Amino acid sequence: MTLIATSRQRLFPPLDEEKRNFLVEIERKWQRIWQEKKVFEADPDPSRPKYFVTFPYPYINAYPHLGTAYTVLRVDILARYKRMRGYNVLFPQGWHATGGPIVAAALRVREGDRKQIEILKSMGIPESEIKKFEKPEYWVEFFRGGFKEDFQRYGLSIDWRREFFTTYLNPPYTKFIQWQYSRLRKLGLVTRGTHPVVWCPKEGKVVGDHDRPDEYAGIGPEEVIIIKFRGEDGYVYPCLTYRPETVYGAVNVWVNPEATYTVAEVDGEVWILGNYAIEELRSQGHRVEVRGAVKGRELVGHFAVNPVTKWRVPVLPAEFVDPEAGTGVVMSVPAHAPFDYVAIEDLRKDPNILARYDLDPGILEILKPISLIELEGYGEVPAETVVRRMRIASQLERDKLEEATRELYAKEYYTGTLKKDIYGERWGGRKVFEVKEEIVDFLVKLGYALTHFTLPRPVYCRCGTRTHVKVVHDQWFLRYSDPAWKQRAHSCVERMSIIPEELKKEFHKIIDWYKDWACAHEG
Ligand SMILES: [Zn+2]
Repeated sequence: MTLIATSRQRLFPPLDEEKRNFLVEIERKWQRIWQEKKVFEADPDPSRPKYFVTFPYPYINAYPHLGTAYTVLRVDILARYKRMRGYNVLFPQGWHATGGPIVAAALRVREGDRKQIEILKSMGIPESEIKKFEKPEYWVEFFRGGFKEDFQRYGLSIDWRREFFTTYLNPPYTKFIQWQYSRLRKLGLVTRGTHPVVWCPKEGKVVGDHDRPDEYAGIGPEEVIIIKFRGEDGYVYPCLTYRPETVYGAVNVWVNPEATYTVAEVDGEVWILGNYAIEELRSQGHRVEVRGAVKGRELVGHFAVNPVTKWRVPVLPAEFVDPEAGTGVVMSVPAHAPFDYVAIEDLRKDPNILARYDLDPGILEILKPISLIELEGYGEVPAETVVRRMRIASQLERDKLEEATRELYAKEYYTGTLKKDIYGERWGGRKVFEVKEEIVDFLVKLGYALTHFTLPRPVYCRCGTRTHVKVVHDQWFLRYSDPAWKQRAHSCVERMSIIPEELKKEFHKIIDWYKDWACAHEG
């Protein structure tokens, strides 16, 4: 619990040495007596009621901070109160060292990463000691010592005989975890299957929340659809979308004119792809061989076929398209996608853009929005309605457009009705969320599309590498999706008394939110 000098000066009046020494002396005296008399050591004693307290083991990749002191103090107060009430109180302490953060930090030290080394130095670790931190094991040893010393000087009433830490460095703990897992397996709650995971290609490992900076926590693989628009140029334009049902109104394909695309053979077809997609497709069982490169602008003006409507649709330039997201190629559905609506408006407003690519202005005629989904209060062209209400003037207003997209997507997904004149008897008149999966199956079965997993936005590993989604086979996972388990977990939470009471519903929410959790790392 080190306070840096400047804030120390600001926080405290000039030091009265004598008073300080007097107080420290009292502190040391009583801490020594507690230790000698073993007052916090709890042994079985049938004559007294027992009471157990615990402070969730802190992660020991740094010294404790003030938040640690604040939280553990509450545990200590409870322990002392219960002792005074005659309880036999057990207060053990563990240290959590498992997982990516320590390994990744050690790797960064090994690679001479300045930022990581500065972090260690800012904790008061001298230059000469830094080399030792190249080994993850040393982090565990070092900060475990630092934590314990601080906790002892803080006067916490812990039974230090019951101190333990995680990882293979402590074989009994490893055995305990193995016992838990084999028990869960017997109960059918640990199973094996195909599973999409967030993957670091550099380290060749699954990147859990612990293995990435906090800003990327909680972002996981999402299922998307890649719809293949076959170009008259022989290329496949693989349009990645969250809304495959809207392909019925796709009037053009967008590429970023300034980007360099890869021409790659994917499962025997020649695809146009952004670089990011290459590894992600490979990681999901596709054979991808790079054949060459092409500038986005060279593709502008080519034509491709919408696989469902069989319309001949142009490939057009749009700056909003991020070549490093998804496949880098998207279909354009101006009636229901705000980005597409605005990008087409941009083409209308500035004739120079079309002229720059030698495009006939007559092309604008075929870019009219095709209304697919009935949405109350949003008129014939919902994207136009939202864009006008939010006063979005150009495709470069990314934040507003993302907000507009979120609003429209959620509204149309849950309350939008597919129009009969477009979707016929099969899906017309039904809600989007009811038939989306059926439409996907239909597109996949006819070879128009394939399912794929990607991340909704870039996620970086702690080692600094951008991750992508890999589909692993024979992946072990904890079946948090199991309905019987969820029900039991809910009823356990109901039986607990939680303070403050309102927090109870958060526990229930988390139980519902849990999905299957990849629990053994490949590679
Ligand atoms: Zn990594």
